[in-house]
Amino acid sequence: MQYLYGPVKSRRLGVSLGISLTPYKTCDFDCIYCQLGKTTNLTAERKEYIEVNRIIGEFKTWLENNNEAAQGLGYITLSGSGEPTLNSGFGELISEIKKIASLKVAVLTNASLLSDPDIRRQLWQADLIVPSLDAVTQELFVKVDRPLAGIKIEDVINGLVALRKEFRGKIWLEVMLIKGINDDIRHIRKLKEVIERINPDKIQLNSPVRTTADAGVLPVAKTKLRKIKEILGEKVEVF
Ligand code: SF4
Repeated sequence: MQYLYGPVKSRRLGVSLGISLTPYKTCDFDCIYCQLGKTTNLTAERKEYIEVNRIIGEFKTWLENNNEAAQGLGYITLSGSGEPTLNSGFGELISEIKKIASLKVAVLTNASLLSDPDIRRQLWQADLIVPSLDAVTQELFVKVDRPLAGIKIEDVINGLVALRKEFRGKIWLEVMLIKGINDDIRHIRKLKEVIERINPDKIQLNSPVRTTADAGVLPVAKTKLRKIKEILGEKVEVF
């Protein structure tokens, strides 16, 4: 399979079949914690990096050969080797998947393009959106996510707030915390204010455990994660 991977089992999504919509590694962020390594194509250009009909062709073949596995899938997950919403065909892909199979679709996104109403409209077809938000000040945003020049955290946050107002499915906000960088309690309190504006269904706290793009990216101690969980409130799950 070229564009599909898995099914993979995770605590977050159960059993899901992944779809990669971009070549390795096409993203408008270059997060210090990225498990895929350094961003080799740092871009905000939107185009059909991988043609939707190719992905759908592979998906149909997979379904024909994996009838039983398909029954056990929790989600079809759009993510992969970069930022899926950079593929200009991602909305069409979701609607095609929905036509072919009665399966739930999740989109994992860095939320960078959510200030665009058209991108949000295309996401409405998904069942679950898992956007990431690692920082709420521009300084920390640049430090952790290393976005393409010109991307403002305020626009990302406003896009998330707008998405919540429009989208009827679930939003599970993912926050990656890194020791000594974005885990300061003052930052966590600011994060809490922003999360209250966004009002996601769940907040998933993560801390890096695998190899990251940059060396020296360290996980937050479990005791501190528990304290942060208390501050952020009852919707929080720690992974
Ligand atoms: S947004 Fe995702 S794919 Fe892009 S650099 Fe960050 S972790 Fe990696």
